[in-house]
Amino acid sequence: EAASSPAEIRTTCPYCGVGCGVLARPDPQGGLRVRGDPDHPANRGRLCSKGSALGETLALEGRGLHPLIGGTRAGWDEATALIAEKFRDTIAEHGPDAVAFYVSGQLLTEDYYVANKLMKGFIGSGNIDTNSRLCMASSVAGHRRAFGTDTVPGQYEDLEEADLIVLTGSNLAWCHPVLYQRILAAKSARPELKIVNIDPRRTASSDMAELHLALEPGSDVALFNGLLARIARRGAADAAWLAAHVSGYEAALAAAGADDDAATGLSRDELDAFYDLWIGTEKVVTVYSQGVNQSSAGADKVNAILNCHLATGRIGRPGMGPFSVTGQPNAMGGREVGGLANMLACHLDLEDPAHRLAVRDFWDAPRMAEAPGLKAVDMFRAVGDGRIKAIWIMCTNPAVSMPEADAVAAAIAACPFVVVSDMYADTDTAKLADVFLPATGWGEKTGTVTNSERCISRQRATLPVPGEARHDWQALAGVAAAMGWGAEFDYASPAEIFREHAALSEVAGRLGRDFDISGLKDISDPGYDALAPQAWPVTAARQGGRFFGAGGFFTPDGRARMLPLSARAPARPVTASHPLRLNTGRVRDHWHTMTRSGLSPRLSQHIAEPFLEMHPRDAAARGLSAAELVRVTSPAGEALLRLVVTDRLRPGTVFAPMHWTGQAASAGRIDAVVAAETDPVSGQPESKATPVEVAAL
Ligand code: SF4
Repeated sequence: EAASSPAEIRTTCPYCGVGCGVLARPDPQGGLRVRGDPDHPANRGRLCSKGSALGETLALEGRGLHPLIGGTRAGWDEATALIAEKFRDTIAEHGPDAVAFYVSGQLLTEDYYVANKLMKGFIGSGNIDTNSRLCMASSVAGHRRAFGTDTVPGQYEDLEEADLIVLTGSNLAWCHPVLYQRILAAKSARPELKIVNIDPRRTASSDMAELHLALEPGSDVALFNGLLARIARRGAADAAWLAAHVSGYEAALAAAGADDDAATGLSRDELDAFYDLWIGTEKVVTVYSQGVNQSSAGADKVNAILNCHLATGRIGRPGMGPFSVTGQPNAMGGREVGGLANMLACHLDLEDPAHRLAVRDFWDAPRMAEAPGLKAVDMFRAVGDGRIKAIWIMCTNPAVSMPEADAVAAAIAACPFVVVSDMYADTDTAKLADVFLPATGWGEKTGTVTNSERCISRQRATLPVPGEARHDWQALAGVAAAMGWGAEFDYASPAEIFREHAALSEVAGRLGRDFDISGLKDISDPGYDALAPQAWPVTAARQGGRFFGAGGFFTPDGRARMLPLSARAPARPVTASHPLRLNTGRVRDHWHTMTRSGLSPRLSQHIAEPFLEMHPRDAAARGLSAAELVRVTSPAGEALLRLVVTDRLRPGTVFAPMHWTGQAASAGRIDAVVAAETDPVSGQPESKATPVEVAAL
């Protein structure tokens, strides 16, 4: 179909990290017709079920239209002054680490940048973390350990150029459907393209795979260590590349050789088939997602994958490389602005004094954070035990979505001062707010997002702002001004914030960081309005492209690091009282806690209610029948779910979707059950291996 007519507005889907371009046309009834943008490099006109239903999710039902103080309507001036006063008083009495921001991969980059600047440069604490911690923090940690920066080496085109795609811990068919469609199209054009799917559970993504490896939960390091050892034995390591560009090969190999891939639970034939295919196919892309990241050994799993690509030099070249596919639309943008508690803006390092100084000078910041702040799970523990006394939660619903959600909800309820900014005033978290700020949402706000292949795209407003809602950057700048920093936060538009971020990236580029969009630092307002999707870096010399094909990593000596790794079982062993491992994940047609996707009856038709998948052997052992209601329990809490008996998963494991919030009793609220165990390196929770028991109601 031809490019957009004048009435169509180019924007970007707000759901997953594929970052599809959308053409949206408002209709006279206040609705929106959407179609895929044929000119967007991520999707080339495609949309999945969620993206194509965007027009059905715009109802004002549940929207917060006015600020509320203690549940009563208030004005913006009054609410802003109260937030500034409470934060100022808390900081004066208890220090800057007594306050925190908990933000979201749904924020636009410009909102994220302002939040990070206010907390890390002006309040002077590292206590800003994000729900992206639950999604891809292990990938960030793995990238930084191996490459020196959080760099995604490849591009989506590599999926089409590969001869082998390994999907590990990724149900791409449901969670990143347009990428899955691109792979299907490539496979249909070139049937010799092989797919391997590594997942304890047989999913929709397994259907197109030549080989499905239903490995023991958490045994990914053992598997990729086995691959590394086999690479060496077969003489498939690239000695010249290793000598020129990589450190740590011998130590990584020694550790891999000491590991036993029998821990995967896979047969020798299955392991040999995988190793032979991987080693024998030069153009291999290993795609990984939450099945790898959401683990108490998530960073090690990431590095085990990176080790294999580094050993063979299969990185940064067409059709080759590890590929982290992020969950949220702007998880990457959040990483770029330093939205994680242990990062600074533009991939600068909070723990590096030279980086801190550079950012302090650039911001003219009065009080730079000196140390990393609390990561999400620890942040809510600190809310619970009183160390954090004031928190501002933006655009996310931790009372439902954090592991051990009951304890998190109780901590928020007991916190002396809670601000929640959200589109919706009726979320479980918004109901706990002392001050609620109505925020604009997709279709109303304007700014940029970055997808999983580093492509920066514009979200553009297509609809009027309802009620008194404001953009998040406006709410933040208002509070910053009320706290005495009006000049430093006197932004007139997202374009102005974007220019500042781009100018800071020039500083980062000079300090040897990968994130450099200095080519956009002087972009005009019309230029920003018209900004076409483009992958970073964007400098005078370069735009987009792959990293690392010719070497040159972002470590002090320019060499990548292979790490010695040993497989570890999930943090909590199963026990006689909790003998099953709970895996959690998404369904095809819902998003997060369904605040938006739940508004579309069409999306709810695919799967109408929360469920628990269980192997027939385990169901029989408990006398449970398909379709009956069951109670899932862990030491943290319980959830009520409809039982699905299926051999899609391994005996001893169960699976539940993460979306349902259980407004009535504990129905479906699975994160109440998930244990808050985290990876010691990345801080990411282990959302896929909680020991549980299941019984009839
Ligand atoms: Fe939106 Fe992701 Fe679907 Fe694309 S694949 S339309 S970004 S949900």
